[in-house]
This record gives sequence, C-alpha cells and structure tokens, in this order.
Amino acid sequence: MKVVTRFAPSPTGKLHIGGARTALFNFLFSKYHSGEFLIRIENTDKNRSTIENVNSIIDSLNWLDLSSSQKIIFQTENFQSHQSVAFELLEKGFAYKCFLNEDELEKLRINSRKTGLPIRSPYRNKNIQNNFNDNFVIRLKMPSSGETTINDRVQGKVTVKNEILDDMVLLRKDKTPTYMLASVVDDYIMGITHIIRGDDHFNNAFRQIQIIKYLNWPTPEYVHIPLIHGQDGAKLSKRHGAKNLIEYKEMGFDPIAVKNYLLLLGYSLTDEKIYNFQDNVFKFELKKINKSPSRFDEIKLRNINSTFLKNADLRYLVSKIVKDKNLKNKNLIRNLSYFLPELVKRYKLLNEIEDDLSWMSDDFSINTEEYPIELKNKNSLETLEEVYQILNSCDWELNNIKTSISNYIKDNNLMMKDVAPLIRLAITGKLNTPDIYNTLYILGKEICLNRLKTCL
Ligand code: GLU
Repeated sequence: MKVVTRFAPSPTGKLHIGGARTALFNFLFSKYHSGEFLIRIENTDKNRSTIENVNSIIDSLNWLDLSSSQKIIFQTENFQSHQSVAFELLEKGFAYKCFLNEDELEKLRINSRKTGLPIRSPYRNKNIQNNFNDNFVIRLKMPSSGETTINDRVQGKVTVKNEILDDMVLLRKDKTPTYMLASVVDDYIMGITHIIRGDDHFNNAFRQIQIIKYLNWPTPEYVHIPLIHGQDGAKLSKRHGAKNLIEYKEMGFDPIAVKNYLLLLGYSLTDEKIYNFQDNVFKFELKKINKSPSRFDEIKLRNINSTFLKNADLRYLVSKIVKDKNLKNKNLIRNLSYFLPELVKRYKLLNEIEDDLSWMSDDFSINTEEYPIELKNKNSLETLEEVYQILNSCDWELNNIKTSISNYIKDNNLMMKDVAPLIRLAITGKLNTPDIYNTLYILGKEICLNRLKTCL
C-alpha cells in the first residue's frame, strides 16, 4: 500500500508552530515510506478564509521545504463532489433533510445542554419528500445505538457510545458543505491512507468515520498528535509569545533549525544531533510520537538555531547572507567568509550576523561624529597613535601583528583590555567583533591604517 498523507490547513490564520509540526510529521512519515505528501487548503469557511492567509501558509511551507507531491488542492474546488456525497447519503437513508429554523434549533440546543445528549432533530424520523421547499440542511443520521471504536496510532484504542454522537450537518441551507463532510470526502478522493493531525480533531474522527462506514470507503489510519502547550500548560497561543512561521523566518531562524525544533516538540529522539533532512530519509516512526502535550520554548528554538549555525556548512550560510542582503561587493563577501566561523559562535540568528556586516566592507567609514566616548579622551588617542605607528611598520602577517601588539602592551605595562577595545572601536565602530588580531589581519593593512588615521 502506498502511503499518502496530507496537511489540510484552514486559511483562517497564518501557519503557526502547531500546524507546521503537523505538516512536518505528515511529510516525514510519507517520505520515509516513499509515499506522497499532499496539501489541501480547507477554504470552505468563506467568511474567515483569506487569500493573504493562503499565500502566507504556502510561503511558510515552501520555506520549510515541505512541498506537496502534487498540485495544491483547494477544498472549494470539490464542492460538487461534497454535495453529491451528501445527496447519496440522503438517498441511501443515512442522512435526512432538516427544516428546523433558528428558534427551534435553539430550543433543542438548550435541551441538549440539560440532558447532555446530542441534538436529534425531529426530522430524523420523518420521511419528508418536500422538494419544493429548499430551506433545509442535510444532517447525517448517526447510529443511535452501539459503539464506535477507533484504534488511533497515538491515542490508542478508544471507544465511544454512538448515542453521544450528534446528527452533524453535512450541507448547510445554502447547500455548501461543512468541514465535517468536505474533509472526509476529500480524504477519500485523494486516497489518504494516514490522517496525522492535532488531537483537537479526535472527537471529529468518531463522527467522520460514520460517513466512511455508511459508504463502505476504506478507513484511513488515524494519528492524533497531542497539542503543543505554552509554558503555563495552556494550549499554545500568541499570548505565550508564539509567532507565525513567517515571523520566525524574518527574525532570522533557519528553516532546518526550525524543523529540528518542531521534531523535538512531540517526537522522541534518541540523540541530540541536528538533522538536515536532505541527505538521508528521516526514519519517522509513528510509535515515537509522544503521547502527552509538549511545551513550546523559544529559548530552546534559539539554542537549536545557534547549534545549527555553528555546525552549518559555511558556504551555505555565506550564500544565504549574500542572497538575503543582496551583497555584490566581492571584498565584503570574502571578509564575511573569513569572519563567519567566529560570528556563528557569537550569534544565535542569521539576522544578527546580517545586521553586523557593514564594518567588513572595504569602503566602510565610521561617522566621526559618532565615535564612542571611549575614543575621545587624550589617553586613548595617544595609545591609538602608538598602535598606528607599530602597525605601520609591521609586516602584515597574523603572527607579526600579534607579536607587535603584545610587545607594545608589555613594554608599556598595559593590559589587553586597555588596548584591544580601542582598536576595535576605531576600526569597526564596535566593541564586539571577532578576535582582534584576526580582524586586523583580514581587513588588511591599508584599511586598518586608514581607519586608525581617520580616528586620530
Ligand atoms: N482544517 C483543519 C484545521 O486547520 C484540519 C482538518 C484535518 O486535518 O482534518 O484545523
């Protein structure tokens, strides 16, 4: 059997951590089984679905490199199939037309709250063939006795009594399908073998499976994954500081690091390594999905990004920065490649590195007005004047630079901290740069002397 999974977001919002994790699990599972991963946009809720959200979700999935094996499906394209399935159920006696108006329905709702039993419309047992009045919804006729068991791959074997299942609406009065119907029909049409989704849909599965049973369709495997919580144990939301995937992208997180973190949120890994998901197929096993909710922690995400940066292929990072910042200056790109191994040790996000490139450029000049106060006193300027002289007569090799400066420090009874920060400020405008000797060496004699001179 070929494994076919799907990720079925509703475009009523952007892609968040939970959805991204669902997409990743579906993707990895299907790839491990050489199957297909499909994307279906569930845009049946016309009032709340927007094209901006659709685009943002697709951009996020592309950024994470979780692309669909086939053309992306939009649920509204399948309206006719949804409708014909509803009418087929009607014809076969598994569904019925319900003509209740809002007031009548409200009374039933109140009653249902009191009894704790689901809504059963009085039309359920009336054989109404009124074809002239179109003012009806179509409801599924749930079995009123017996039990339904689902052997979920994460939740285990769970049985519910059918009498607690409501006669859910399949087609609304305007004959548009509900999510409850559309999703099942689409899964069938798309040949979905495994439904991997958040466990907030587990209750729906017991109702949706009735349609499958009535129509003798193959039952998919259900895999309901526990939700992600915030640090306080409540369902993860914006108030926990969780952002959408585009925001993480813009903050400078790397998609591979994000995927590694998503995996940790609900999947048991035996080692701490960073997976690149490219060279080898990741062995994704359903039995390794955790049974209890995980907690989102942005610090952990940052740390994983930092580990990723430290271990990443430098050429990959350079080409990303060059692309992001549209860098054209060859010297700057060359300097960046030299400095990067040190920069990745200091920063956790690529954007932090990208914001700190200017001093690496040959034509960088510090606005003299903005020289930090440390450089403006007489002693500092004298020190820098002397540093200028010794560097001027230095044969520009890393070791020579080191020896000249350390001799100068020794001879003058100074400490490294009296000199290095001044040189740094004068040639980069910053106190925090890679190793000072390396910085001087890589920037080159002419540039360093010019910048010192400007400062003096
Ligand atoms: N569209 C649903 C959601 O975004 C998912 C439905 C499903 O996976 O069956 O929550």
